[in-house]
Amino acid sequence: MRVAAVREMPVSLSDPMANAGIGFGGMTASAVAVDVDAGAAGTITGYGFSSVGRYAQSGLIAERFAPRLGGAELAGADGRLDPALALPVMMADEKPGGDGDRAGAVGVLDMALWDAAAKAEDAPLWRLLSKRGGTAAPADVPVYATCGHYREGGLGALRDEIRACLDDGHRLVKIKCGLRGPDDDRARVEAALGLLGGDGARLAVDLNCRGATPGEASSAMAALEDYGLAWIEEPAHPHDFESLRALAGRFETPIATGENLFSAAEAGNLLLYGGLRPDRDLVQVDPALAYGIAEYEEILRRAAARGWPRSRMAPHAGHLYALHVVAGLGLGLHEVGAGASLPVCGLPAGVAVRDGTASRPDAPGIGFETHGRLWSILGRLSP
Ligand code: MG
Repeated sequence: MRVAAVREMPVSLSDPMANAGIGFGGMTASAVAVDVDAGAAGTITGYGFSSVGRYAQSGLIAERFAPRLGGAELAGADGRLDPALALPVMMADEKPGGDGDRAGAVGVLDMALWDAAAKAEDAPLWRLLSKRGGTAAPADVPVYATCGHYREGGLGALRDEIRACLDDGHRLVKIKCGLRGPDDDRARVEAALGLLGGDGARLAVDLNCRGATPGEASSAMAALEDYGLAWIEEPAHPHDFESLRALAGRFETPIATGENLFSAAEAGNLLLYGGLRPDRDLVQVDPALAYGIAEYEEILRRAAARGWPRSRMAPHAGHLYALHVVAGLGLGLHEVGAGASLPVCGLPAGVAVRDGTASRPDAPGIGFETHGRLWSILGRLSP
């Protein structure tokens, strides 16, 4: 189980949409392939694709992580490919802290190794993770749809996107707010609620850290408090634990955050100092951006020690990989990127959403080969 080759390719995600914090016009991602020499079984190729929002990591992969990973022997005690063995190999000579972009570079390579490991077992990744962790994988995976970025077309376009999500079988949708202030936020929320039977529990709002000061974050949440929303996401800077603690103390609405934290240490600090409530708030650390599965398992251990059930874990980004992680590790909720604009959006062939839950993928590995848009990119990295 030796790593024979690592390939990386930067991919443009150019899209005219925006959230309150960033536009996606210049966004990029890394597509990777890792060949593993499986002896008599031949070469197994695993694929990875960056999570959304942090750009391609071509330089870090080419200069540090691919050279370290190349040639590594990753057979566990049972002789099977064990991707967890790759983390210390890739992190050799890396000082603690400063996780940032390197956590995504390692995370996308880790993803490819898990794809290969599940293919070696001829099993979908969720089944491998479930077996490894002794966690039952639900047949119906709770999901929600993310839509409603800022685009041309105003509230009419927002309503059209939400209608499409409902037509796809979703019950819970998340929209973007925070760009133009509380009055505009309320107009967007009310437009959405008009399609959701007025039920705030079926609507989440993502502020994308637009609350630059504690006062702005508090005003944004106050404007939405009475709608009874499912959650408000990233009302404050991801490292501003003092503000998060104040918001959680003042407002009843659940808070979701964590997609911009990249290690077990950072997530641990959130749980220690962020004032979040295990009975309602959501932790959205994205394993694809945070060193991968082994690091995420450490986050789950730390969360459990502080009384957090796995049902409050909801990884960011709508990535097919995250669907396997949510199913296989028994987490609370998978985000589905609605529409067809970004490669990671949507679900693979054979996975259906009904009444707010998704079926589990059947294809071996992560199943990128069954996801049309992703495979049109990743297939170019085939051996
Ligand atoms: Mg978000």
